[in-house]
Amino acid sequence: MSKLIVVNLVKHYATRAEPLEVLREASFQLSAGESLAVLGPSGSGKSTLLHILGTLEVPTSGRMILDSQDPFALDATELAAFRNRKVGFIFQDHHLLPQLSALENVLVPTLAAGYATPQAVERGQDLLERVGLAARSEHFPAELSGGERQRVAIARALIQRPRLLLADEPTGNLDRSSSEKIGQLLLELQAQDGHMLVVVTHSHDLAAQADRRFELDGGVLKSE
Ligand code: ADP
Ligand code: MG
Repeated sequence: MSKLIVVNLVKHYATRAEPLEVLREASFQLSAGESLAVLGPSGSGKSTLLHILGTLEVPTSGRMILDSQDPFALDATELAAFRNRKVGFIFQDHHLLPQLSALENVLVPTLAAGYATPQAVERGQDLLERVGLAARSEHFPAELSGGERQRVAIARALIQRPRLLLADEPTGNLDRSSSEKIGQLLLELQAQDGHMLVVVTHSHDLAAQADRRFELDGGVLKSE
């Protein structure tokens, strides 16, 4: 069983004045199939926490173990492979590549070998269908609505079957109705695939449906 173990994560940023303490000894554990919502005001360290969990940033101290591996003990090549295989990331802004179609965007994480295998293409099409975009696979991001772009980003985050799916205010740029649908979709896909989900959100509806809720306040992570 896959597990995420986070122990005393601390993040400081150097500034010209004293170091900024953005995360203070955050600890928690998450098991396969569990969802965690992280709430908190702007500037409370939510994105910093997610970036560390996604191995996009290194903690100042503390440990994180995912699937029995400490990603921060890996060298750069191993870490890139770990991130590619184990973690999916959804940002507030979809971060799709404008010159690629929806399907091509979904396949980007599989391109380490230089080309998409037929199995990857099939899985990409299957994921686009699961996020309700089977008829949009050849569309470019500019030809999609905000909610549709975020669906493509979700399919892309799932293409490698990550153990841990991280979403940083995934509905922050969407209207209320699209936002609710995207929240539902994240929970549905998680129930089907059994990955861990950590979602930063201002939506109390979405947070209420997650298995657990944490609040970040001034860098301190508290269970609600
Ligand atoms: P949130 O996502 O909750 O709005 P962030 O994690 O983005 O908060 O930021 C938390 C705090 O850390 C903010 O005060 C922000 O200014 C600061 N911060 C974030 N990234 C950096 C950085 N690279 N260098 C210095 N300070 C940063
Ligand atoms: Mg943020």
